[in-house]
Amino acid sequence: MRTESSYGWLVAADPVRRARLAADVERLFEAGGPAPGLPAGPRGFLDFETEMLVGRYVSSPRPLFARLPFDYRLVPSPVRVVGLAMLDRLHGAGTVADYPAWPLEPRLDDFRAGLWAEAAARAGISLTVPSYREGHRGAVVLTHDIDSRADIGGIAGIRGLERGYELPSSVGFVPEISWPDQEVIEGLISDGCEVYCHDIRHDGKLAYKSSSAARSDFDRFLDKHEAARPLLRGFRSGQLLMTSGLLGSLENWFEYDLSLPDTERGGPYGPRAGCGTVYPFLVGGLLEIPLTMPQDFYLINVEHCDSAQMLSVWRDKLESVLSRGGVAVVNTHPVWTNPKRAGVWAAYDGLLSTIVSSDAWVTTPSRLREWLLGRRGGLDGPASQT
Ligand SMILES: [Zn+2]
Repeated sequence: MRTESSYGWLVAADPVRRARLAADVERLFEAGGPAPGLPAGPRGFLDFETEMLVGRYVSSPRPLFARLPFDYRLVPSPVRVVGLAMLDRLHGAGTVADYPAWPLEPRLDDFRAGLWAEAAARAGISLTVPSYREGHRGAVVLTHDIDSRADIGGIAGIRGLERGYELPSSVGFVPEISWPDQEVIEGLISDGCEVYCHDIRHDGKLAYKSSSAARSDFDRFLDKHEAARPLLRGFRSGQLLMTSGLLGSLENWFEYDLSLPDTERGGPYGPRAGCGTVYPFLVGGLLEIPLTMPQDFYLINVEHCDSAQMLSVWRDKLESVLSRGGVAVVNTHPVWTNPKRAGVWAAYDGLLSTIVSSDAWVTTPSRLREWLLGRRGGLDGPASQT
């Protein structure tokens, strides 16, 4: 499995110069020794980057709840949160490297940017500041995972709020649990939104199935929903669980994946896990678009934030991502973010209001992918290393 960060596409538009700089980055990295502040990894930069972006995450130990013989969601949420806190203590923050830090983990992105800047200076080439369609300094993708059938009813409220700011969002449905009528899907599309496939059963097991069992799950679902098939371009795994087997096979059905957090604390993979970047990257032909904004669930149940604290964490992270020309991906769940939870609702409203005044391109994953691949020169275009 080989990755390619979109960072090079953003700072070096010309593919010939980009390929030259990428080769120079490799040489600089090999000559420079271990990357300061980052975990150890392979000697070549592309191999090292692949290890940081996906290798570490997909080799996380399988979480206990993913091995339970019953649906983990039957365990009440407060009990799960206590379980997560115990896991956190077991790992002990001092006994593992402080990587990735939460809520900001800039070390890999800073290190990569430093290598590119050094290579460009030596070659007498100037890099461009990352920018997106119409010159926006960063991008935002709003997503909503619909984990239960009851959550479908919450979509209208959240879309009403977003529509007030003229913002599109993307909605993920679980095939075996919350797959809606085709009218719901078409209504979202005509509203400028997008839909994606969110896991299959959301039982924590998909990532750990054999490739043939996972393949038959996807094929069965897509055969059953012929009408939705052309509209479904992307995927997000339940609980963001991912293995190399699942990640490597997703491009058989999808163009993008939304499963990897840049940094997550107290999730199924313990005190800290994530790909450590705010730039989307290719995994083969699949565009991985990291989840870079803390999820509502964690801010409420793990960090115990009140409304003002939620908004503050979101605003700081948004500014951090946009200021380096990355993509801020937000995931809110109607079960947590709804008008009955006034504090959370106000925080989300505040986030949307901040986004519209932030010079960000607010878009959907497919439009972002199309634009980014256009910058690269297409999927079959020149790779960053020749
Ligand atoms: Zn979910």
